[in-house]
Amino acid sequence: MLTLSQDDILLGCEAPDWRGALDCAAEALQQAGLVAAGYRDGLHAREAQSSTFLGSAIAIPHGTPESREHVRATGVRVLQFPRGIDWHDGNRVHVLVTIVARSDAHLDILRQLTHVLDREGVVERLAAADSRAEIAGLLSKAVVEARLDTGTLCLGFPARDASELALAAAARLRQAGCAESTFVAAVANQAPHDLGQGLWLVSSARGVTRPALALATPESLLTHGDSPLVGVFCLAAQGDAHRGLLERLLTLLESGSAGDLAGADAATVLTRLAGESAAASTRRVRVLNAHGLHARPAKQLVQVARAQSVAIRVHLEEGGGQAVSATSLTKVIGLGARRGQPLVFSAEGEGTEAALDAVCRAVTEGLGESVLPFDESREHHLSDTQAMIEPLPENAPQAAVAASPGLAIAPAFVLRLPRFDYPQRADDPAVENRRLDEAMGEGAEQLEALVRQARGCEVAQILSMHEAMLTDPELHQAAREDIGEGASAEAAWWHAIETAAHAQEMLADRLLAERAADLRDVGRRVLGLLCRIELPEPPDIPYILVADDLGPSDVARLDTARVRGLLTARGGATAHSAILARALGIPAAVGAGKRVLRLANDTLLILDGDRGRFTVAPSEERLATAEQRLADQHHREAEAWEARHRTATTRDGHRVEVAANLGNTAHALDAVERGAEGVGLLRTEFLFMAHASAPNLATQVEEYREALDALDGRPLVARTLDVGGDKPLPYWPMPKEDNPFLGLRGIRLSLTRPEMLETQLRALLMAAAPAAEPEQAPAAGLKPAPAAAVNKNARPLRIMLPMVKDVGEFRTVRALLDRLLEELPQAERATDVQLGVMIEVPSAALLAPTLAAEVDFFSVGTNDLTQYALAIDRGHPDLAAQSDGLHPAVLRLIEMTVAAAHARGKWVGVCGELASDATAVPVLVGLGVDELSVSARQVPLVKARLREFDLAEARAQATLALAQSTAEAVRDVLETG
Ligand code: PEP
Ligand code: MG
Repeated sequence: MLTLSQDDILLGCEAPDWRGALDCAAEALQQAGLVAAGYRDGLHAREAQSSTFLGSAIAIPHGTPESREHVRATGVRVLQFPRGIDWHDGNRVHVLVTIVARSDAHLDILRQLTHVLDREGVVERLAAADSRAEIAGLLSKAVVEARLDTGTLCLGFPARDASELALAAAARLRQAGCAESTFVAAVANQAPHDLGQGLWLVSSARGVTRPALALATPESLLTHGDSPLVGVFCLAAQGDAHRGLLERLLTLLESGSAGDLAGADAATVLTRLAGESAAASTRRVRVLNAHGLHARPAKQLVQVARAQSVAIRVHLEEGGGQAVSATSLTKVIGLGARRGQPLVFSAEGEGTEAALDAVCRAVTEGLGESVLPFDESREHHLSDTQAMIEPLPENAPQAAVAASPGLAIAPAFVLRLPRFDYPQRADDPAVENRRLDEAMGEGAEQLEALVRQARGCEVAQILSMHEAMLTDPELHQAAREDIGEGASAEAAWWHAIETAAHAQEMLADRLLAERAADLRDVGRRVLGLLCRIELPEPPDIPYILVADDLGPSDVARLDTARVRGLLTARGGATAHSAILARALGIPAAVGAGKRVLRLANDTLLILDGDRGRFTVAPSEERLATAEQRLADQHHREAEAWEARHRTATTRDGHRVEVAANLGNTAHALDAVERGAEGVGLLRTEFLFMAHASAPNLATQVEEYREALDALDGRPLVARTLDVGGDKPLPYWPMPKEDNPFLGLRGIRLSLTRPEMLETQLRALLMAAAPAAEPEQAPAAGLKPAPAAAVNKNARPLRIMLPMVKDVGEFRTVRALLDRLLEELPQAERATDVQLGVMIEVPSAALLAPTLAAEVDFFSVGTNDLTQYALAIDRGHPDLAAQSDGLHPAVLRLIEMTVAAAHARGKWVGVCGELASDATAVPVLVGLGVDELSVSARQVPLVKARLREFDLAEARAQATLALAQSTAEAVRDVLETG
């Protein structure tokens, strides 16, 4: 955010007249390196168009849009003229605030200034101030933004009484980040206060982080005592910053018709709370100006509003702010409206419709600036109120969700798709065909150069594929046909791309369907060339990729040589894209909120994937500390790598096996090379997803055999098909379920098609048939022998069932497996087989004693166990931070599981993401877990982590963790003490 600091202020300036004052401003900006010399003319040209006098002895000179090319950096200079300057419009000016910006960053300062203007005596004080601190203090009154918007409304809530409504409203404020749990508790203990007209109020200042007002209304009409219950307001009070909210509430009540909020929708509620009467007509229109409603378009708007026969008011739809007069320049600027934000105009009385038409037309036409239409799907519009009001502070660690460990320090590259505007039709097909050919040729050349640069990296393959797509004659022909019918080259090309991409998306094979994204990538490259818009090419130096969200295929395509880290606005730690980031070894923090998308490219970031933190523009000191940590991390990684083939034990020699999680059997060799002592979880669904129809017996045998060959006597824990929920299988269509995570998933689904399960079990048994006569089968019971002592002829096979809820499902599969073992000739099938279950559903943990009597082993899937124990969707964008496997409830379920297994001499692994969490490793070992299965890249580090503590310490950590009451408390006590 652009903020005003004392260094930006120049005291005691003098100039003979207003022109001289503008020259002083230009010189100050140039000296600060913010503009080039040409900007001076822009300042004069702009002033010649209309005065930039704002009020209260302040003028805000700035350049014309054309002079923006002379802007070198965004910044501000404040010049104080104690003697005053006669401005050309007759006003007297003591302070020039000159803001240069390449974006709309200056709106924040403008907005602050409008808050200064109402203050009494400010002119005299600005003129007489003899310190920069005083001027800065006068100009930069911090604006605490109270919240009242769709995010704080809870309408049509199925409550039974006023207290339930009050709680719903309080919870909404907590969810919106305005209050903490103590606030909700304080509200829960209150009797709602009667406001009249069916409205009630609860309020508290406890645990308030930001003043806000929520409203909860009931689904159906209720009464409270003898009065009707239209709704309950919940006020998060803070100092006097919530006063504006109360005033809005009072205005609503004074209107005498607040009762008609019953059953009202969000837009009506907000309009009424913005001070509009029920009789007012409203009209909504989006701001289109690239730099928002800055001074000049605001002035135009004010002029149009003043020319109308009725009084027009305006408010921002999203901020929930009060409606202001559209004829007040300072009030209109004070809205701080940015491109894409909807304004709501209102008026009442005769001539209203014509007046609203006029202002809306003026806004749509750009208020004197040329504007482009707004396309919500293509632009990151700023509906996220948090993002708009609270830009990311610099040099202060910000919270996100830890998704992939490691530290990264690099500049940000924010992935924003450009918008393309082009005519749909063109007159001359020959010209359009030539333009298209040229753009395609240029695109192919670009790709060729990129492939050359990327040779050897994974990304080279993807770029070559793009090159092949670009030269596809069918694509070219489709575009030429459209051009022949009068389409412009741009429209024809994009139509061809969209048609092809859509057809691709319809393919049953998920991997093929994902190629639609590649087609659009290629399409944008050519479209960019046709429209002469440069696509955001990532820098060729290492960077941290900042994006809204990344799908698994996006992550898989990352250029790992340059992407040092990932920071996303959305996503959760156990989403499959996060799992992939870990597999690629890229530090990642996710769920950081939309505000990260407003980061400027090249902003230096520190990203801490272990703690889920990131810091924007760190200070020298913080940077030095992070660099030291990074150096330590590299050192630790190097040491861990050296020792990766040593068996993993705690410092005092307690053995814990470390295995790898795989989604692709072809990666088994790599896992062994990274020190894995086996595969602890083969997610066989990825094998199924890579085929257009269910892979047959032979295909499966071949795939599983590849892994077992690579493991060379080390055990393979293969999970039977685990689809459903977040992992659909295209050729196994399932009826739509309201709660897919609670529906036909994992073993439940497999049991609906036993023939598929049977084929999979048969394939696994056949693939694990010993290569030659086994010398000696490893002992059953606890884990098989470690790698150093593996029997290379044996192929230990552990089959694991996902999503088991009780022993019933297990027995059905056991019977099937036993039958197959009988049927298959001994020499053609595995001889060392165990059948176990995943502990992912709380009922399985609670019933572990009954399961342990029959299964051979347990493997705890902490990703799902956490999801089901805490009732938090593992990919939920807002709740991801709370979905922590170190929650004491999850730990207790693991404790029960281990106790039940060990009582029967069975072993327990953990294969969820928690197993690679450095804080969790000693806790899991302390709870008695025998095996940790983690992404292959994490194997050396987890082994190294095990060597850092001894068993007694691990047990103490586990006891300490189990004694806590929240996940935060567990992390606190383990990470700080
Ligand atoms: C788990 O749920 O912890 C697990 C390992 O399975 P998946 O992440 O594949 O659902
Ligand atoms: Mg799972």
